[in-house]
Amino acid sequence: LPPGQRVGFALVGLGRLSLEELLPAFGECRRARPVALVSGTPEKARAVAEQYGIRREAIYDYASFDSIRDNPDIQVVYVVLPNGMHHEFTLRAARAGKHVLCEKPMANTAAEAQEMVEACRAAGVKLMVAYRCQHEPYNRQAVDLLRAGELGRPRFMEAMNTQVQGEVAQWRFSKALAGGGALPDIGLYCLNAARFYSGEEPVEVFARIDSPRDDPRYREVEESMAFMLRFPSGLIANCACSYGAHESKDLRVRLEKGWIDVENAFAYRGQSLRLARRVGKAEGIEERRLGQRNQFAAEMDHMAQCVLAGRAPRTPGEEGLQDHRVMEALYERARSGGPVGL
Ligand code: NDP
Repeated sequence: LPPGQRVGFALVGLGRLSLEELLPAFGECRRARPVALVSGTPEKARAVAEQYGIRREAIYDYASFDSIRDNPDIQVVYVVLPNGMHHEFTLRAARAGKHVLCEKPMANTAAEAQEMVEACRAAGVKLMVAYRCQHEPYNRQAVDLLRAGELGRPRFMEAMNTQVQGEVAQWRFSKALAGGGALPDIGLYCLNAARFYSGEEPVEVFARIDSPRDDPRYREVEESMAFMLRFPSGLIANCACSYGAHESKDLRVRLEKGWIDVENAFAYRGQSLRLARRVGKAEGIEERRLGQRNQFAAEMDHMAQCVLAGRAPRTPGEEGLQDHRVMEALYERARSGGPVGL
C-alpha cells in the first residue's frame, strides 16, 4: 500500500524492543507505518520522531496519552511497556477507541488479561498479543509439517529458552513490573509454541522452579523453571527457561515417523529447520531453507491487515489469556507439589 493508505501505529514505550527491532521493521512493512510515539523521555522521543518522519505534534507522554483519541492518524496502539503496564495502557487505548497490539506477556495475571479482553470487546476494538513466532516462516513451516500428518503422531516436544540476564536494576526483576521472572518473559515462548504447534490445550502441568538464594536479582522473581505440559492426544511437551544459562532457543518435535528440529526457533533471526523421515524403508534427513521475512514486520502487517479487512487477529487477547491461565497453573504446581524425593 502507498504510505498514505497504510494503517497508522502509535508505539508506546521507546525501549530496546521499540528502538532496535520495531521501528526499523516498519521499513519492511507493506501495510503498517509509525505515526505517533508515546514516551516518558521527551528528548529521546523527539530524536526518534525526527529519524522516522513522525510529526512533533504526534508525540505524547504517559499523562497526555488519552488525547490520542483526537488523532485520527492513529488506528493501532502498540503497547511496548514493561509487562506490569500493559493492562493500564490497553484499557486506556480501548477507551480512546483505538485497536491494540500488546507485547507479550499480555499482562501480569490472568485476571488482568481477562479485563483487557473484555474492555476491548466492549469498546469494539481489536486486541492482538504480539506472539511474533506465530508469524515466523520456520515455525509456521514446522506447524504445517505437523498438520500434514505425514510424520504421524507427535509424541514429545522439547522447547528451551535461556539467556543470561544482566544487572539487578531493571524492571525484569521487579514482580510488580514484570509479573514474574523467566517464565512470563521467555518461558512463555515455549508454552505458546507447545500450544500452537500441537493445536491443543494442555490438560495437566508439572513445574519446578530454581533460583540462586543469595542473588539479589531473584528476591522477587524466578531465575529458572522447568515444566511439562500434557495434551489430550498424549503429546508431552518438556520445556525449560532460565535467566541463568547461556542463550539457547531451540525447539524439537519427536513423531512416530520422523522428527523436526527448529534451531533458534524463538530468536529474532537465524532459524533453520531439519527434518528426518522414514518413507517406506528409506530414512532421510533434509534441511529446509525458506525465504527470510522479518517477523516483527510480518506481525505488524498482520495487525494492519486485520484492521483493513475487519478480521480477527490470529493471536487475539484470548490467546494471551489462555497462556496466563496455564502460567498460573505452573506457578501453583511449582509451589504446591514437587517430585518424589530420593
Ligand atoms: P525496555 O526496558 O528496554 O524498555 C521499556 C520502556 O518502557 C522504557 O524504555 C521506557 O520508555 C518505558 N517505561 C515506562 N515506564 C517504565 C518503567 N517504570 N520502567 C522501565 N521502563 C519504563 O524493555 P523492552 O523493550 O525489552 O520490553 C518492553 C516490552 O516488550 C515487554 O513487555 C517485553 O516483554 C516485550 N518484549 C518482547 C520481545 C519480543 O520478541 N516480542 C522482545 C523484548 C521485549 P520511555 O523512555 O520511552 O518512556
